[in-house]
Amino acid sequence: MEKRVHNFNPGPATLPLPVLKEIKENFLNFRGSGMSIVEISHRSTLFEEVINDAVDRTRRLLGLDDNYHVVFIQGSASLQFCMIPMNLALPGSPVNYINTGTWSTKAIKEAQIQGKDVKVIATSEDKNFSYIPYDYKVDNQASYLHFTSNNTIKGTQWHQFPDGQGVPLISDMSSDFMSRPFDVKPFGLIYAGAQKNIGPSGIAMVIIRDDMLKRTPDNLPTMLKYTTFIDNKSLVNTPPTFAIYVIDLVLKWLEETTGGLKEMERINKEKASLIYEVIDNSEIYQGTTEVKSRSMMNLTFRVGDEELEGRFLVEAVENGLIGLKGHRSVGGCRASLYNAVTMESVKSLVKFMREFEEKL
Ligand SMILES: *Cc1c(COP(=O)(O)O)cnc(C)c1O
Repeated sequence: MEKRVHNFNPGPATLPLPVLKEIKENFLNFRGSGMSIVEISHRSTLFEEVINDAVDRTRRLLGLDDNYHVVFIQGSASLQFCMIPMNLALPGSPVNYINTGTWSTKAIKEAQIQGKDVKVIATSEDKNFSYIPYDYKVDNQASYLHFTSNNTIKGTQWHQFPDGQGVPLISDMSSDFMSRPFDVKPFGLIYAGAQKNIGPSGIAMVIIRDDMLKRTPDNLPTMLKYTTFIDNKSLVNTPPTFAIYVIDLVLKWLEETTGGLKEMERINKEKASLIYEVIDNSEIYQGTTEVKSRSMMNLTFRVGDEELEGRFLVEAVENGLIGLKGHRSVGGCRASLYNAVTMESVKSLVKFMREFEEKL
C-alpha cells in the first residue's frame, strides 16, 4: 500500500479509503463490462444503475419524501448562486439572504447582477464573519430565504437552522452536507458542491421541493432550468459520470459502513471536540470565531505570531499533516474535518499540536 498522508484539505478533500480501493479494484473492468466506468455510455443500463443508486441512497439518508427531487448539475455550487434567483425569485417579491461570509457574499452578488430585489436581512460582516447572526426578520413576502449552513472559509456553522417564518429555506450546504441529520421539510432547495463531503469536484447535488418548480420562467436557457434536469433524470447531456460514480460509492460507505447520518454526526462531533479541546487549553492556539458558532467541519485557528504560525505549518507537513493552511483570503490555519477524515488523522493532529506547543 502506498503511503497516505493525513489530509485536512478544504476541498477537493480526502475521500474514504475503502471507496478509493473499490474504485481501483474495479477500474479496468467495471461490473464485468470489460470497460472502465469512464468508458461506458451515460445512457447504458450499467450507468443508470449507478446514478439511480446514488439518488436512492440520498433519499434514504436524508429521509426525503416523494415531493423532493434529487438531481446532479454541472458547474457546482457556484452555478447554483445564479440558477437559484433565476428560477425561484417570484416577480415583485424580494429574495432574502443572510450573509455569513465569502460564499454567501458571492451568492448575494449573483442575485443582484440579475436585478432581483435582494434584501440581506442579517450579516455578521461587522465582526469579520466570526459568528452566526441569530437575530433577523424574514420578509413575509419573500420568495425564499438563502443561507450558507457551514462557512468553509470563516469556520462558522449554523447549529440550529434559521426559521424561515413560512418562507421556503434555501441552503448552500457544500461543506457540511451529509455530516449530520436535519429536518428537510422547511427547505425549498438544498445544494452542495460535491468535493467537500461527498465526492470529486465539478458537480453539485441539488435537492428541490416539487412546489418550487412552478416558479421557473419559460424563457430561461434549457441548461439553466431545474425542470430540465428533473425531466431528464440528470441525463440531459453527458454528465461527469466518474464523479457521480464516486458519489454513489461515498454514499454507500456512509450508509453501510458508517451507519447513516446520526452516527456520522456523533463521530464528527467527537473529532471536532478533540481539536477544540487543544485550542481551548492552549497558550498559543487561538480560535478565530465565537465559540457557540464554531464549525465541526472547518476549524479555523491562529498559532501565535506569523513566524510561529509559519513554522507550525512547515512542521505539520513534515509530520504528514497536509492542508492546514487557512484560505488565502484570511490566512491563519484551518483543519477541515469532513466525514472521510478519520479519527486516526484527528488524533495525529492533536498529538502534533500538543507536542509543538510543549517543545516551545
Ligand atoms: C467550496 C464552496 C463553494 C464553491 O464550490 P465550487 O465547487 O468551487 O463552485 C460554495 N459554497 C461553499 C459553502 C463552499 O464551501
